[in-house]
Amino acid sequence: MNYSLRCIRCGREYDGGEVIYTCACGGLLEALLDISSLEIDKREYEGVPLSVWKYKKLIPIEREPITIKEGGTPLYRCKRLGEKIGVKDLYVKHEGLNPTGSFKDRGMTVGVTKSLELGMKTVACASTGNTSASLAIYGAKAGIPVVVLLPGGKVALGKVAQALMHGAKVIEIKGNFDDALEIVRRLCDEEKFYLLNSINPYRLEGQKTIGYEVADELGWDAPDRIILPVGNAGNISAIYKGFRELKELDWIDEIPKMTGIQAEGSAPIVRAFRERKRDIVAEKKPETIATAIRIGDPVNAVKALAAIYESGGMAETVTDDEIIVAQKDLARLEGIGVEPASATSLAGLKKLVEKGEIDRDERIVCITTGNLMKDPEEVVNVCDRPIEVEASLEAVKKALKEM
Ligand SMILES: *Cc1c(COP(=O)(O)O)cnc(C)c1O
Ligand SMILES: [Zn+2]
Repeated sequence: MNYSLRCIRCGREYDGGEVIYTCACGGLLEALLDISSLEIDKREYEGVPLSVWKYKKLIPIEREPITIKEGGTPLYRCKRLGEKIGVKDLYVKHEGLNPTGSFKDRGMTVGVTKSLELGMKTVACASTGNTSASLAIYGAKAGIPVVVLLPGGKVALGKVAQALMHGAKVIEIKGNFDDALEIVRRLCDEEKFYLLNSINPYRLEGQKTIGYEVADELGWDAPDRIILPVGNAGNISAIYKGFRELKELDWIDEIPKMTGIQAEGSAPIVRAFRERKRDIVAEKKPETIATAIRIGDPVNAVKALAAIYESGGMAETVTDDEIIVAQKDLARLEGIGVEPASATSLAGLKKLVEKGEIDRDERIVCITTGNLMKDPEEVVNVCDRPIEVEASLEAVKKALKEM
């Protein structure tokens, strides 16, 4: 396939084989695919199981992919949750069921494959946790060293465990995610490591397949709205790009309204949206229980805001308490176990429906981005502890009456 990297700010184009993350002007890059030259028909996808590499023709990669079978996550129709919130046609796409437990795998299968294609010898990222877990695993599979920088003390236990076990070089810095990202960007420049944060346009080429899968599963019919958590803002930009390409292919009629949710203590994009601005003012001290989106200076903010405005979507904040309620509702009404950041999509839906900003008849797909087991410490803090009793039937029956 013919493709290049194009600056979304000034339009300058770069060769797809260049190791480059931003334009000389500072603007973000986007993979520009020559879709009209593709020989492709959606009928060839009929009956083929969902996965990232199902859509290989639409992904700018030449070589054999480094894959551990990512994507193909379930899209659940959620009747009970829909009734509770008061919407008629609600779906949840559970990205927490990817191999490492988050959607980051979609980006990393493409990003790590690209790093080999480019001849890079080491891959690196800054991470609130899931990016590092995913990169560690794909790096292991590819057989190349992985360097990850984490904000000290602020990464959920399950994620650190993954990065360690899969053999990444894990460094905790005494700072937040935004500090870690700034350092790793310079490190990659100086050491010639391949940077696999979501500023890397190829990662987003993997993540756009969330949009493809949703449309594919609904019979090439896009939902009215996609709701998802927003941290560094790569995913909302990627999914929007996926739908834009499907529209260009004429496989869908409408692009869903992209609706991004942030935690109240970490909401630069929502604030920009409220003022109808196209760029953000960074949040110096982001804070939330949803550590995966505890990001004050999202690098993809400009892309994300464009996605929101162009699709007629919106952005909203939720509190940590609202996140916990939504996390429990997902778990207890639908059997969907998610980490706190993922529950923001449902919490945001609930709030926007109550405010009258979302029509109750819309077909809505909420993306739950990461798995419950990523953050066991949070679960222990927000759920009742088990009751301890003597080892007798009587004691168990008595305890049950009290629960
Ligand atoms: C990375 C991540 C996010 C945020 O995605 P961005 O692309 O950074 O906006 C949300 N939820 C989970 C679980 C994540 O791992
Ligand atoms: Zn530029």
